[in-house]
Amino acid sequence: MARNQKRVAVIGAGVFGLSLAVALQKSGHNVTVFERHQYDKNKYEPDECEKVQAASVDVNKIFRASYGKKLHYQRLAMESREAWLKLNQGLDDALFVECGMLRVQPSEKLGALEEETLDNMQRDGLRGTQFVKSNADDRTRAERLGWGAKLLDFEIPDRTDHKTFDAVLDSLGGLTRCSAACHHYYKLAVRAGVKFVFGTEEGAFESFIEEASSVVEASKSKVVVGLKTRDGKVHKADVVAIAGKSKPIPSAGSFSTQLLPRLSYHLESAAGSLVTFQIDPGNTTLWDKYSPEKFPVMTWKSAPRAGDGKDTGSIYVFPRTPDGVIKIGYRGIKFTNFEKAPDGVPFTQNGQWSVPLPYDDCKVVPPQAEEAIRAFLSIFLPEFEKADFNTTKLCWYTDSLDNSFVIDYVPGYANNSVFVCTGGSGHGAKFMPVLGDHAADIFNNTDNAASHMRSHWRWREDSPRRNGLDEGPAGPRNMGRGLE
Ligand SMILES: Cc1cc2nc3c(=O)[nH]c(=O)nc-3n(C[C@H](O)[C@H](O)[C@H](O)COP(=O)(O)OP(=O)(O)OC[C@H]3O[C@@H](n4cnc5c(N)ncnc54)[C@H](O)[C@@H]3O)c2cc1C
Repeated sequence: MARNQKRVAVIGAGVFGLSLAVALQKSGHNVTVFERHQYDKNKYEPDECEKVQAASVDVNKIFRASYGKKLHYQRLAMESREAWLKLNQGLDDALFVECGMLRVQPSEKLGALEEETLDNMQRDGLRGTQFVKSNADDRTRAERLGWGAKLLDFEIPDRTDHKTFDAVLDSLGGLTRCSAACHHYYKLAVRAGVKFVFGTEEGAFESFIEEASSVVEASKSKVVVGLKTRDGKVHKADVVAIAGKSKPIPSAGSFSTQLLPRLSYHLESAAGSLVTFQIDPGNTTLWDKYSPEKFPVMTWKSAPRAGDGKDTGSIYVFPRTPDGVIKIGYRGIKFTNFEKAPDGVPFTQNGQWSVPLPYDDCKVVPPQAEEAIRAFLSIFLPEFEKADFNTTKLCWYTDSLDNSFVIDYVPGYANNSVFVCTGGSGHGAKFMPVLGDHAADIFNNTDNAASHMRSHWRWREDSPRRNGLDEGPAGPRNMGRGLE
């Protein structure tokens, strides 16, 4: 083995695990990914009976470069956009679809977040890619560049003046075909030499193999030398990397906290509500109207930003897929599920923590979500206002305390033997082609990493718990059973 080459065991083959695995392998390490679901067989499009719960297993995700004041994420998104376009080359079906993204405002005025985004776009020479509906020059430019038809007009309901919502069309935005991209990345990883162990027994992480450390530091008494999978096998590794949300397995206790008890301070699981409609190709009017050629990804905030400047959450819709599926997501309320936390979890709120509900309890969306989606449909997609949903589901976010990812070595383990790469916070999928490179830089170089994301993704137990993680079980989003 070459100097500095490590045997790395990555747990989880979602967006984060795949991206990290490819980058680590390319930087000279010897990587094995453990994953409990058979993505090698189902190509990230599992049957219902496989009961897969993973944010990355999804038909599409939004790509946006608009990040308000967060210039570092805007720049990362632009880097990622270039990489998606490269990935697209030579593929029959693009993984990144450049359909644009229309950000519809809560009123006829432009919101504060948009002004911030436009300022940062201007700053990086990208203002020409954004078209503000209320700006006559932008509208003319949009027409000239072929984007005019996507600057859609929607009348504000319950008003007599027939005013329409203002909107910004981001021509850099679009969608990624997330499951297809994961499968593509899986194949890239295999080609790069990454090994995979899939399966509910042989691919499922059970526990760390720990040994006493020779490092003379009370806080680093343990070193991880590998992992045990559920089939009882022991796999030796120099570093174990946790990539992605690790759902506690009810019958086996708390998986992720047994693994990494201190992650409970950084992260919280919360559910987004997803519904779909099915368009029949025979209905040529709808088929055409909602195609990605005619219809952008669209988001709408039904209310202005809160008094404290916080985002009030939004509803979003994708153009139809090649199979005729229209997906709508509601993130106005991300629902938490607080349950009694197992003994030994270092951070809890009133003895509880929020964890994903079991798969079978995630097949319906809460009434608040359905009500908000119906109101959205009545304004923006009236053909579907009364239509039955084709599918409904709760999909679990891994929210971090400040919406930034957590990518770093875990303190407390000697020899830098445990690394974490998670905390997607509802916006991680778009970074798949570059996330791993930044993470591998941090893995290889820690504080000397060149990545401009290093400081944002560090282990940060010193940061306050915000981003809704401060609410706890008494918060209005909790649908859990509490301490019962
Ligand atoms: C509703 C919703 C909407 C979103 N929308 C967007 C969007 O529009 N744009 C965007 O960029 N991002 C979006 N995101 C965020 C994005 O989906 C995530 O950041 C990303 O998919 C997270 O990937 P991951 O690999 O960290 O986690 P996951 O996709 O959850 O993967 C984790 C993997 O670990 C495996 N695993 C768990 N436990 C074990 C174990 N014990 N042993 C072995 N394997 C295990 C799981 O099976 C899973 O495959 C959204 C997220 C949600 C929930």
